[in-house]
Amino acid sequence: MTPEGLALLQDGARELALELTPEQLSKFEELYTLLLEGNNRLNLTALRQERDIVLKHFVDSLSCLRGGHLGGDLRVLDLGTGGGFPALPLAIMRPELQIIPLDSTRKKIDFVRETAVTLGLDNVTPLVGRAEQIGRLPDYREQLDRVVVRAVAALPVLVELALPLLRVGGQLVAQKGALGEEELGAGQQAARELRGQVTEVDPFRLPILGDERTLVVVRKEGRTPEKYPRREGVPAVQPLFWKAK
Ligand code: SAH
Repeated sequence: MTPEGLALLQDGARELALELTPEQLSKFEELYTLLLEGNNRLNLTALRQERDIVLKHFVDSLSCLRGGHLGGDLRVLDLGTGGGFPALPLAIMRPELQIIPLDSTRKKIDFVRETAVTLGLDNVTPLVGRAEQIGRLPDYREQLDRVVVRAVAALPVLVELALPLLRVGGQLVAQKGALGEEELGAGQQAARELRGQVTEVDPFRLPILGDERTLVVVRKEGRTPEKYPRREGVPAVQPLFWKAK
């Protein structure tokens, strides 16, 4: 990473009220290098420019820390982590979190695992699988403190995939773009159906770029009915309370 890239990362983080230690900065530098290498093999990201990777992956991932929902000694699953976002930036910034990056694509999870080892992030335990299956395993169903998610699906889909994984009192922290009334409404209804409640809708702008983002928090209030999640693929194809366009 160039000195300009590092300065951009620090400026972006500062806008989110985060200060990076020299060790954290050097982990981001290493992550940047590994991501570019991995991208040649695996197509992990469409972004090629340093500025874009720093702002749209690193700083954007760090914005999940807004509102302090990811503080403390928590078990956090990153649903649909892809190349490790937001899981890896969160693991760098918050060593006390136990982070489980989940993706259905094995080669992506292999990359995340190798990268976590190289960066010395021993708080990261990657997992291959679909959220629909993982949500039925006793080790995960109603076990997690948080599910975090970025850029995977519409809110009602995320609610159906995430709420079965959360313990009562746990929270889904979904980082979305600009959120329409309809998507929010469907998300609220889906949350009620799965025994959760939308407790926060926090619109903000991405540092430096100004792109619109919304952090949505859904709190799990009771046990999710056994019929959820529906079988593989159904949550995304027939989202609850939502006509996909
Ligand atoms: N969160 C990452 C990747 C977004 S792309 C980022 O912000 O960059 C969406 C990813 O979600 C893909 O890698 C896809 O494999 C994964 N995914 C989609 N549906 C899934 C499901 N039901 N279970 C597990 N992973 C899923």
